[in-house]
Amino acid sequence: MREAKCPICRKPAALREPGKASAHPFCSDRCRQVDLGRWLTESYAVPAVDPEDQGEEH
Ligand SMILES: [Zn+2]
Repeated sequence: MREAKCPICRKPAALREPGKASAHPFCSDRCRQVDLGRWLTESYAVPAVDPEDQGEEH
């Protein structure tokens, strides 16, 4: 069985019902949206040197 952890809330994100659009690798569509919003925010944000961002690319 495949197991993945939600990148957002770190909960185990099991695959959802077959045939249904899954939020994989997120635990829910909600977390998927959160990640998307975060990604977009970072993309459009002015590149800034933030020490806290260093070394956290994964
Ligand atoms: Zn989640």
